[in-house]
Amino acid sequence: MQPKIFYNIMADGTVKQVNPFTGTEVWSVAGRGRKPLSNEVQATARPIEVHSPENYCSFCPTRYFETPPEKSRMVRHDDHWERLDFLAPDKYGDSVAEFRRVGNMFEIVTLDYWRKNYAYKMAAQRQKWKEDYLANPVGLKHITDIIRYKLRQEGKTEEQLDKMPLSERLAVADAFFGGGHEMVIARPHYREGATLEADLFSSGDMSLEEHYRYFRFTVDAISDIVTSNRYVRYVSVFQNWLRNAGASFDHLHKQLVALDEWGASIDNQISMLRNDPNVFNEYGANFAAHHNLIFAENDYAIAFAGIGHRYPTIEIYSRSHAGRPYEHSDEEIRGMSNLVQACHAAMGPKISCNEEWYYTPIDAIYKMPWHVLIKWRVNVPAGFEGGTSIFINPMTPIDLRDRMVPNLYQLRDQNLIDRVRIAEECRVDPNPLKYYLK
Ligand SMILES: [Zn+2]
Repeated sequence: MQPKIFYNIMADGTVKQVNPFTGTEVWSVAGRGRKPLSNEVQATARPIEVHSPENYCSFCPTRYFETPPEKSRMVRHDDHWERLDFLAPDKYGDSVAEFRRVGNMFEIVTLDYWRKNYAYKMAAQRQKWKEDYLANPVGLKHITDIIRYKLRQEGKTEEQLDKMPLSERLAVADAFFGGGHEMVIARPHYREGATLEADLFSSGDMSLEEHYRYFRFTVDAISDIVTSNRYVRYVSVFQNWLRNAGASFDHLHKQLVALDEWGASIDNQISMLRNDPNVFNEYGANFAAHHNLIFAENDYAIAFAGIGHRYPTIEIYSRSHAGRPYEHSDEEIRGMSNLVQACHAAMGPKISCNEEWYYTPIDAIYKMPWHVLIKWRVNVPAGFEGGTSIFINPMTPIDLRDRMVPNLYQLRDQNLIDRVRIAEECRVDPNPLKYYLK
């Protein structure tokens, strides 16, 4: 048997790749990359009727009562930002939330999962929040309304709902207050000056400051989830952008899901770290540098085209000594945020994508660097993939790099991205990731 080679450009241009961290085998076939990316063809060109303030979906600013209660919100004053936690429901309308953190009405890992498997009890502070919320008439109406909505979605009839005792219905609400599946929702639905349904507000439309606040707020949510439930071993963080990426709302949001395990992929990466603490430099950053796949960096982070992914994938790694986002300094989080925002801006808002965060699990003693993958959902794995376990990615890593670089230059010329070194300006020092240091 031939040993696996991670990255092999063949004579005809086919690029065979194996992801060093997951073992996924991928081919990019020469010529297929020239097919247009399906998502660039606008799914809809229907004009919108502009409403101000926005009220297009349940995540919009006029519809605060269509999501579970707010754990936290970020409010922008002229020159500073303020975080308001556990806001009383009758105060929702007193300020405009730039970001809101709420429970997910339809949890992947439910509150009952934690209760039944671990005897988890809601923290006292959460319990009190629930009691105060329900004691407030606005809060009680909010909760009874959304419980009705949730149970109807789950197939209960009006008649069944009417027969259900109030105490039983209200028990459903515990998940809104004490659950570990949350959403962080951005304010705008459409971009500034939108005229078409496809002109949705994306991560790349944010200013650097807004994107930093979005990241910071999400990082704070991870810490809070970990503090509120001692059985949590990892919090999965992701953003599904547009329907092809699995988003059920077009309105920009991230999700956080508390887990009691790391998942197979991180398990495997941690065991690689045990054998070689420098593995994320060797097979990540250094490898990308040797194959000229690094296309952008700043003092805190580095971005390159990933190899061995089913979808064209951008990887952004933190250079911090810290292995968990909430252990990063404000500058480091800002640096990571700036580079991720630059990548979103350069790829544009029309490409459906998953943004996935990876970092050192809460109970791991081997450090892995915080990194963010942006996977472009432009292809659908089909029969060939199912039969062979070889995935066809429509773009080679070099195609992906070359698509990003000119757009990044253009954004920098327009002062839309901050202190990013692009393409050949990148210093590509050996071992640029410092997570392995104390
Ligand atoms: Zn909306």
